[in-house]
Amino acid sequence: MKIRNYSIVLAMLFVFVSCNQNPFTGKNTLALVPNSQILPMAFEQYDQFLKEHQVVTGTPDARMVKEVGQKIATAAERYLNANGYQGYLKDYKWEYNLVKDDAVNAWCMPGGKIVVYTGLMPIAQDEAGLAVVMGHEVAHALANHGQQRMSAGQLQQVGAAVGAAAISNENQQLFQTAYGLGTQVGVMLPFSRSHETEADKIGLTLMAIAGYDPDEAAKLWKRMKAKSGGQSQPEFLSTHPSNDTRINNLQQWAAGAKAEARKFGVTNFQS
Ligand SMILES: [Zn+2]
Repeated sequence: MKIRNYSIVLAMLFVFVSCNQNPFTGKNTLALVPNSQILPMAFEQYDQFLKEHQVVTGTPDARMVKEVGQKIATAAERYLNANGYQGYLKDYKWEYNLVKDDAVNAWCMPGGKIVVYTGLMPIAQDEAGLAVVMGHEVAHALANHGQQRMSAGQLQQVGAAVGAAAISNENQQLFQTAYGLGTQVGVMLPFSRSHETEADKIGLTLMAIAGYDPDEAAKLWKRMKAKSGGQSQPEFLSTHPSNDTRINNLQQWAAGAKAEARKFGVTNFQS
């Protein structure tokens, strides 16, 4: 992508630089485009995505995606409210859809707009497996990782387009790439390792508060790893590298996630 006018970009930098606090780590994160601008754009992109893809409805899997998604969303709200972040999700409009696509993939856009691909379902296997993936994806959204995934220059271009209320094809593509909507391997930008680790940890807590056994997380990633042994790399893995460190981490953190969930009165964990 070419930046055509540096003076405009520089001007946008001053307009759009602000900070969001990551409610799970307490750390300030750079937010070059505020949620008030990102969210309406995300909602529009999500609706567009659904129009262009086959949304699965009325099947047990489709119902499962909605049910697990709702439980994860409720868990996120309970967690944030209990930790002094009331209102953090006030502009979220949660939605959970299963889309017919063989890709092993799932994502959550800012504002709680979730898509799970049918290709993921055989690896997720059941509600708890799905909760691992959805917890992880929701964690990326809550921690504003998508914004940090785009370079400053890219964000300013999108910010400029949103500010001008006209989203060019180029910016639309950038946005989709940054938030994981691309379906081609190589098009998607990877989250950094530290963001992956953070999302794994937050995701475990969310799934545990939602009543799912966090011990299932390491098992899910082992299935992912097995799947990646074949010729074609699952797409989900191209942005979510599976490795033994991740699996070890998840095993170690599971007990802590259960302890956190018990504070919310959750004592049974569905596996
Ligand atoms: Zn991830």
